[in-house]
Amino acid sequence: MIIMDTGATQEQIDRVIAEIKGHGLRADISRGEFRTVIGIVGDERKVDFAHLEALPGVKEVLSIEVPYKLISREYSKFIDGDKKHRVVKVGNVSIGGDEPVFIAGPCAVESKEQLFRIAEEAKQAGAHILRGGVFKPRSSVHSFQGLGAGGGEEALEWMREAGKKFDMPVVTEVRGEAQVDIVAQYVDILQIGARNMYNQDLLIKAARKGKPILFKRNFGAGIEEFLSFAEYIAAEGNRDIILCERGIIPIGKGRSYTRYTLDLAAVPAIQKETYLPVIVDPSHATGRRDLVFSMSCAAVAAGANGLMVEVHYNPEEALVDGQQSITPDALKDVIRACREIRKQVHGGKG
Ligand code: PEP
Ligand code: MN
Repeated sequence: MIIMDTGATQEQIDRVIAEIKGHGLRADISRGEFRTVIGIVGDERKVDFAHLEALPGVKEVLSIEVPYKLISREYSKFIDGDKKHRVVKVGNVSIGGDEPVFIAGPCAVESKEQLFRIAEEAKQAGAHILRGGVFKPRSSVHSFQGLGAGGGEEALEWMREAGKKFDMPVVTEVRGEAQVDIVAQYVDILQIGARNMYNQDLLIKAARKGKPILFKRNFGAGIEEFLSFAEYIAAEGNRDIILCERGIIPIGKGRSYTRYTLDLAAVPAIQKETYLPVIVDPSHATGRRDLVFSMSCAAVAAGANGLMVEVHYNPEEALVDGQQSITPDALKDVIRACREIRKQVHGGKG
């Protein structure tokens, strides 16, 4: 990263950018209150750092060793100051601020009535953001694929309407590049699912929409790998990334007692590396509704900036993931307990 002098002129900044572009690389430009910081995006082997450092207006050149440079704490402190977390703002909700944020809703949108009823009850329970799958990444082609799979936009419209009616930003998954344009017209946050964590083209396309991205960790990904792929989003100039731990498969599927194994140590570990907010999805991580309460509490105690929980008024009837969906009443208990835990453990801060 190239740190410019406080009084660096635009001409001097442009010169540095031109040098970077001259190597076929991209420049990530951040204009802070006092100085401009320029990050290099791409393969830096050909860059002559001593030459860059000697250019007029350059204060110093710092090398960041990790592969997720743009989202690293080291880099971001020059952009957003030495904050505990980046605050991702969506509507009037702040993710990464003093309070944990609760995202709740059905695994899949099944009908307008189902979505609106869950949205209303989740809001009453204290949820801030509404989730609902329209394009579902199912293992079997014979399973219900979500209402969007037939090409229908209706379910996306309902998401937007429900969000307006109950005053909650909405999030849904983009399962492939083909859906990015259409989904971005309706929702406030684009979700990239665990199976797509490695899909660079999807990450780039979604990032370019300029909307916050809820980015889920793949069940086989290490933390460095997870953050390296989040960097693809940041490299498009989009730092509104909400990282989500949703369970991993540590050895082999047969060895996980629950659906996946919730990696809670990942929460503080990731927060040490990056200032991006980290949320936890206890629903997919456990696959069991009776474990959602305790894992939610544990996640908030571990410092999670929020939770994403699957909710259904009649879990037995849910078309997808009923076994891990909790009722709105149970959500109320989760939220109450988590708020208390946050205050007790983190003093209501960060
Ligand atoms: C989801 O949140 O709807 C989902 C499918 O989760 P994951 O991508 O973590 O499996
Ligand atoms: Mn689900």
